[in-house]
Formats: sequence, C-alpha cells, structure tokens
Amino acid sequence: MKNYKPKGRLTAAAYIDGILKGDRVLLSRAITIVESNLESDKILAKEIVQSILPYSGKSIRIGITGVPGVGKSTFIEAFGKYLITQGKRVAILSIDPSSQRSKGSILGDKTRMEELATMQEAYIRPSASGDTLGGVANKTGESMLLCEANGYDVVLIETVGVGQSETAVHGMTDFFLLLMLSGAGDELQGIKKGIMEMADMVVINKADGDNVRMSEMARLQYQNALHIFPQSESGWSPVVSTASAIKNIGIDTVWTEISKFKELVDGNGYFLKNRNHQQIDWMYNNINEELKHLFYGSASIKKHLSELKNDIISAKISPVKAAEILIEEFKNSLG
Ligand code: GDP
Repeated sequence: MKNYKPKGRLTAAAYIDGILKGDRVLLSRAITIVESNLESDKILAKEIVQSILPYSGKSIRIGITGVPGVGKSTFIEAFGKYLITQGKRVAILSIDPSSQRSKGSILGDKTRMEELATMQEAYIRPSASGDTLGGVANKTGESMLLCEANGYDVVLIETVGVGQSETAVHGMTDFFLLLMLSGAGDELQGIKKGIMEMADMVVINKADGDNVRMSEMARLQYQNALHIFPQSESGWSPVVSTASAIKNIGIDTVWTEISKFKELVDGNGYFLKNRNHQQIDWMYNNINEELKHLFYGSASIKKHLSELKNDIISAKISPVKAAEILIEEFKNSLG
C-alpha cells in the first residue's frame, strides 16, 4: 500500500519518508490529506498515519483554551518563542468549533502569531474544518501524530473556551492550560465549571499595568476555587499563576510547571496510563460516530423516524418503544 498514489498526490511512501526526515513541506501536504474529505485521500491518510505511528507520541501535548480576546494567540506567540530558546521545536494546531457552523472562524481570521510563524522551529497550522466536532478532532489528532513524527517536541492544541471542543482537546493532550482574565466573573468569561475542572493550570493573563493587583487577587481566588475540586487522578494539584503575554512576564513559569507535571506523571505512571486511555477512547469515539452516521443515514430509518416522531407526540407510542422499533429495524437491515 506504500505505493498507493491517487491522482494529483505523491505516493504514500513519499509523504512518510518526508515526514520522518523532518520535511516541513511534506508535513503540510500530508496534513492537507488528513484534512481532506475525498475518499482517495482518506485511504492515503490512513496509510500515512499508520506508518508514522511508531515514530509519534514523543512530544508533550498541551491543550490551551480561553475565551476570545483573553490573549491566546499573544500567549502562544510568547510561549512558543520561549520554548524555542529552550531548544524545543513547537507545533501549534487549533480546533475551532465556530468554523463548523459558519464560515467565520474565531481563531483563524486575523493574522496570528506573526513572528513565531516565521521561525524554522515552529509550525503553525490553522484549524481543520468539518461537519462534526468528532471529525475535526480526528483530523487534529492525526495531524498531531504527523507533527510528532516530523520531530516537534511540544505540540500546542488551541481551542476557544466556549463549548464542547475543550473536552475534545482535553482528550488528546497531556496537560490542559486555561487562560483567564482578572476582573471578570466566570460567567462573564463564559467558562463553565467543567472546563475549570479539566485545567492543570490556570494562567491569569494581562497581568500588567493597572491590572497587576487585580490579577494577583484573581490568582488567589482561582487557587482557592480549584482546591474545592476533587484531587485529579494524575496526583497533580492544579496551579494558578499570573502572566503578561504582551510583556513576556510569567511565561517561563508556565513551562516550569509543565515540566514539574511531566516529572510527576512520568514517575507515578499516570502519563502512560492516560495516553493509553486516550487512544482507546479515540477508537470508541469513532465507533460511536460511525454507528450514528450509519443509523441516521439509512433511508428507511429516516422515513420511519419521522413517522414515529408524530406517533410519540400524539401519544400513540412511548419514546422507549419507538427507539426499540427503530433499533430492531436497523439490526434487520444489516441482515
Ligand atoms: P485571543 O482571541 O484569545 O487569541 O486573544 P489575542 O491574543 O488576539 O488578544 C486579544 C487582545 O488582547 C489583543 O489586543 C492583544 O494585544 C491583547 N493582549 C493579549 N495579551 C495581553 C497581555 O498580556 N496584556 C495586555 N495588556 N493585553 C494583551
């Protein structure tokens, strides 16, 4: 299969060799294939991902979230540049839930991370698009594996802290970083409790100028709030710090904490346990999505479903019974 070559593409082997040699152009082209919805590209993508799999997994995967305007791109620019001074190669991928529904994208419209984008040691890939979050998460997850096989030691996966996509990012990263602002309630920042609960670290950004004192107060408040959550399975207690992405203050602290986390979870076995768990979950998520797709995509189910909906509303049938009938019908259609 390594010589599989759809029209207009190279052979699978060419992409695989290029990625393993650290070729950025071929990495980008391979990610385009992973993101493509063409059937022939899907076959090619599977071949590429399967072959590079043994060379992936060696990076630390960091999820970064926060509402629009909190300073994610400014922070990533500063953090990425800092990591490069530490001898790291950094890949930045994003999941943008807005791009699924509308053409507008919260993460992609403006020019972001301008300086970092020009650096050889950094690779920035804007959000993949797709119909479902599961589909987008698949593409980002596979792109992450390609980046790792290409030699990136740190992968940052960014998302907007407004909805479901955090769970997807949390499910594919080792460390989850939440950016917040001082002086705005959690409600105002649109951050749900569940997202706070996922955070391994909260960074109060824009701690500069008149905002320094408020940021310190917010830091203490969040630190207290995080103590209420049950201890994470990782054994790590989430930390809260302040930073100014624009003034480059407190950026090193973030890396220091991530390094401490890594040491802890390597030592207690959680790192590997979590990675294994994530891989298995990834498979289950795909099975679930595919089954739903098969079920709701079936013409007979579609027709019968709309009839049964009317029957439920007119109290002719119970919802449980209706579900049973449809599932039976689906099972029979599989023969
Ligand atoms: P994103 O939407 O979360 O990616 O946020 P951006 O990085 O685009 O930042 C939103 C705005 O906040 C921009 O005008 C930035 O210049 C500003 N900003 C970002 N970080 C800081 C910071 O640390 N201090 C201050 N004062 N402004 C910041």
